[in-house]
Amino acid sequence: MSEPINCNDSCCSDDFNPNSLEAEEALSRILDSIEAINSTEKVSLRSGLGRILAEDLHSNINVPSRTNSAMDGYAVVGTDLPDTGTRQLKIVGTVFAGNPLQETVKSSTCARIMTGGVIPDGTDTVVIQEIVERVGNSIQVGNNTKTGDNIRQAGEDIAVGDLVLSKGTQITPANIGLIASLGIGEIKVTRRPRVAFFSTGDELQSIGEELEDGNVFDSNRYTIYGMLTKLGVEIIDIGIIRDVKEDVEKTFSETASYADVVITSGGVSVGEADYVKEVLNEIGQINFWKVAIKPGRPLAFGKIKNAYFFGLPGNPVSVMVTFYQFAQPALNKLMGSQQLEAIRIKAISMSKLNKRAGRTEYQRGILEKNEDGDLIVHKTGAQDSGILSSMSQANCFIVLPLESKDVKQGTEVTVQPFFGLV
Ligand code: AMP
Ligand code: MG
Repeated sequence: MSEPINCNDSCCSDDFNPNSLEAEEALSRILDSIEAINSTEKVSLRSGLGRILAEDLHSNINVPSRTNSAMDGYAVVGTDLPDTGTRQLKIVGTVFAGNPLQETVKSSTCARIMTGGVIPDGTDTVVIQEIVERVGNSIQVGNNTKTGDNIRQAGEDIAVGDLVLSKGTQITPANIGLIASLGIGEIKVTRRPRVAFFSTGDELQSIGEELEDGNVFDSNRYTIYGMLTKLGVEIIDIGIIRDVKEDVEKTFSETASYADVVITSGGVSVGEADYVKEVLNEIGQINFWKVAIKPGRPLAFGKIKNAYFFGLPGNPVSVMVTFYQFAQPALNKLMGSQQLEAIRIKAISMSKLNKRAGRTEYQRGILEKNEDGDLIVHKTGAQDSGILSSMSQANCFIVLPLESKDVKQGTEVTVQPFFGLV
């Protein structure tokens, strides 16, 4: 674990404190200290969807298993194909997919064949049905097909012994199909991380309660639930913990004894929820960082017993930004995934964006195509870190780098689409 930078209250209140960590540095420190879970389990192929493969998967068959036809047509002997004019070939049988022809096809004859049908012995080419003329029980072929056309070779997709999927690959719908094509029904995946999470704050109320004056409903519990569920981890939802030292201490201690990761929201900014800081300093090795980002400046990261700890800020947008930028890549690494970070692409900003140098900003945007098919992005109104509707309308972050200043309309910017986040 890297050296803790303990950020005292005065440093957290200063926007341009030299002790601020850059976003990239914070992420690399976090990732460096995460060790992937090494326990694995066997699951049925279907329940492996979304999980991380814990072994290299090699094929013990050819896919396709036999050389077969890519089209509906006629299987012919390549040397029968005329250089000029046409040639008549007698049809000696029909091949359906799954029903190979037993006889060898000799020169001057051919077999009717359907897509996927095994190429009969003796033939090496399929002439597609649209370009032949059928004459009784024969066909007239011209010179518009070359030897080897319209054939799928055995092992063309996957050959025996090929590495099909490597350890650390996430099992996508395409991957379960690929594994099924090898006849494999059970796979070894990494154990899902157990992630316990709770909200901290005396002003928080649960849904179903009557909202008291000045209080807020605990929405972070739901956004964190949503982000963790989409990530495919095992979740343990603890609810709200009040700023009572004994409660905080007991909750951290208990959750850290069975969870791989503990995530909290709130109480990491200046002067708030002091018990959280106090307790963490007593029972964990936690860094309280001021990261040079907006929103989401204060961030706590470290370990309590064997559990990794993320103390996310309280503001609803800050929670989502810090989760996606820091906690999610860390959870991906913990799960043994090869792909840790989300993709970023370029788009033209159709909005003027206000930006101060000295921090990376994650503004919320709507990414779309203009009439010419070019990617453009608009910001979603007010960007205050408490305005969750700016997130709910958005489909991407507009990532403005540390040193950049105000962005004029029409400038190319970097965006991180939400669909690339999970
Ligand atoms: P904090 O980081 O605890 O100072 O909280 C910053 C702001 O986020 C305050 O306005 C809190 O009321 C709000 N906040 C903290 N936790 C939550 C939560 N779980 N749900 C909604 N808002 C919250
Ligand atoms: Mg608070």
